[in-house]
Amino acid sequence: MKAKTKGYKNWSLHEDENKILWLALNVVNEEINVLSFAVLHELETIVADIKANLNSYSGVVFISDKTPHFIAGADVKEIAAVNDVNDAVTHIRKTQTLFSQIEALPIPVVAAINGICLGGGTELALACHYRLATDEKPTQIGLPEVKIGIHPGFGGTVRAIRLLGVVQGMGFILEGRGLDAQQAKKVGLVDDVMPLRELRRAAIYYIQHKPKVKKSSWVNEVMEIPFIRNLLGALFRKKLAIKVKIAQYPAPYAAIDNWVNVGVRAEKAFAIEAESVGRLLSTPTCRNLLRVFFLQGKLKAVGKETDFKMRHIHIIGAGVMGGDIAAWCAVQGLRVTLQDPSLKALASAVSRTYELAKKRLKRKHLIQAAVDRLCPDPNGDGLAHADLILEAAVENLALKHEIFKQVDRRARPDAVFATNTSSLRLVDIASVLTQPQRLVGIHFFNPVAYMPLVEVVKGKQTDKTTITYASAFVKQIQKLPLPVEDAPGFLVNQILGGYFAEGFKAFTAGERIEVIDAAGRCLGMPMGPLELADQVGLDVCLDASEHLMGSEAKSAQTILRAKVDKGELGRKTQKGFYSYAKGKPVRAKATLDSEKLVVLERQFFLGMLNRALLCLDEAVVNSIDLVDAGVIFGAGFPPFQGGILHYASTMDKQNLAQELAEYRNISIQAVEATSAWKLLW
Ligand code: NAD
Repeated sequence: MKAKTKGYKNWSLHEDENKILWLALNVVNEEINVLSFAVLHELETIVADIKANLNSYSGVVFISDKTPHFIAGADVKEIAAVNDVNDAVTHIRKTQTLFSQIEALPIPVVAAINGICLGGGTELALACHYRLATDEKPTQIGLPEVKIGIHPGFGGTVRAIRLLGVVQGMGFILEGRGLDAQQAKKVGLVDDVMPLRELRRAAIYYIQHKPKVKKSSWVNEVMEIPFIRNLLGALFRKKLAIKVKIAQYPAPYAAIDNWVNVGVRAEKAFAIEAESVGRLLSTPTCRNLLRVFFLQGKLKAVGKETDFKMRHIHIIGAGVMGGDIAAWCAVQGLRVTLQDPSLKALASAVSRTYELAKKRLKRKHLIQAAVDRLCPDPNGDGLAHADLILEAAVENLALKHEIFKQVDRRARPDAVFATNTSSLRLVDIASVLTQPQRLVGIHFFNPVAYMPLVEVVKGKQTDKTTITYASAFVKQIQKLPLPVEDAPGFLVNQILGGYFAEGFKAFTAGERIEVIDAAGRCLGMPMGPLELADQVGLDVCLDASEHLMGSEAKSAQTILRAKVDKGELGRKTQKGFYSYAKGKPVRAKATLDSEKLVVLERQFFLGMLNRALLCLDEAVVNSIDLVDAGVIFGAGFPPFQGGILHYASTMDKQNLAQELAEYRNISIQAVEATSAWKLLW
């Protein structure tokens, strides 16, 4: 095989004995392959060269030299740096032309996908004549652009619908979800799936045999008729409106509208797509979602100092949290020993592991392997072998002391000790340890499988190495570590406490539960405060309120205690603030007075903002970015606002100072004198 680089920095070109040109991407100075301006510029020259020497080649294969990535998309840093919409549209149009040239090549072009293939990477693959994907674990194909407030712009909205039909194609664009190779094959996004070792051979086969490309079905053609487009478009919008509002997330609506207006057969569909992305790029939603993307990157960078991988975790307590954490870790590939005196709790954890593995891993042998990795261990034999010991037993200091005395005696000298406590102080728990510096808080949220964030809590004595290992572990199990100090409620529960407190206050004042929760959702929260309290469990809320707020929240505690005493603990007992039927809250029809909603929404915002600023003042976390990351990934604060502090910083400073002063019952000057306030502006 001849290798030519012709001075390309990111692409290497190999021509094999079959006259196939292999275009391998390995972007310099980047951990992942992205379609930056420089990469696309080089590709333009390469494609022009291929067009000028067509007789020299029998086919072209796009491949990656950077495992486990094929192409992760356009360069988000470059997208974020856009400040001239016209420049952006010009760049998009140029790239569309480049991809159309690739599509129009008279020789076969194959995308040989191994690893992550997202956004612009998928759009390039869609412009190829054939797509092959490996069934390796990292392989994932998707168009996640809506997550950063735009939709695909390099022809993706047009070609995805041309290839998959509008129902599948639009779903693929609107959901922004990545598909594994088998799912991609099932919907017709890739032509074939194979193990990595067969990928090159399969690409050669496709080039030499040129299998017939499947023609679009007549049904798909009918759906392109303008009258049908209008009808279907209305349906898509209606379905979408259940999930997101146009004012908050305009991008998916724009993708639907573009299709309704021009369909995907005409060439002008590309121009419409480009202009639409140009418009979306300048929306506040897009700027805020880009901020969220970078915040996520910031959390992913925590714990980078070590590449140590935990192999064995021992979990003490197999209740709601311990059982679910055990299941999650087993599915993520760790060996788990799970200790609990209750055999019933252990059995429940095993069956939850099976359910989770079935959902996540799909294939029988992988499911079985995950279940086999979890070992119920009532006597705690795993204590002596584990890399990490995580305590998740009942929230009781005396019990935790007993547990950690045992851990101290039996654990390996280099094991990391962790507690999942929500409200006890690390320094108090660590008082029975001979080396208290080995104890860290690893605070998961409920439900474990759905919450992306985990707080990594530094106790007064916790040493740096322990923090690093704990953060690396959180990343290893595909969660986002948020470093926080040991303060009551840490960051997320502290801020959510403000949301709950305002919800309970409105309830005490006689407001209807449906109105209260509707106001929470108006703010963009996934649930109102009362439905969230029902979800968490009213006993847990009461416990947290007593631990964290003491007598300060007396009226909320009175309401909660009355319900707990009646056995109304929320969703888990089918009764709390709501009654539940088939797991869903039964809501009475309430007339929603928009003025009232606005007032309540503002109170909820102020309740959370007040706590967020206090956390910053008390250095629970050390930056605005970390508060915002915590509130988005841990408390569900709406991503389109870019975080609670970022949102606050876009408001009128004087008004907000006055509102906060009234809220805290202090002077405006006192608000303005706080260090958090000064950081915000
Ligand atoms: P839970 O009551 O559901 O489970 C506690 C488990 O501990 C039970 O299975 C019990 O049998 C077991 N246990 C009791 N004594 C034990 C012992 N000596 N050794 C081992 N296990 C023992 O409680 P949970 O909700 O899972 O909470 C566990 C911890 O996680 C608490 O510290 C809590 O503050 C924290 N937490 C809870 C949530 C939540 O939403 N429930 C969220 C984050 C953190």
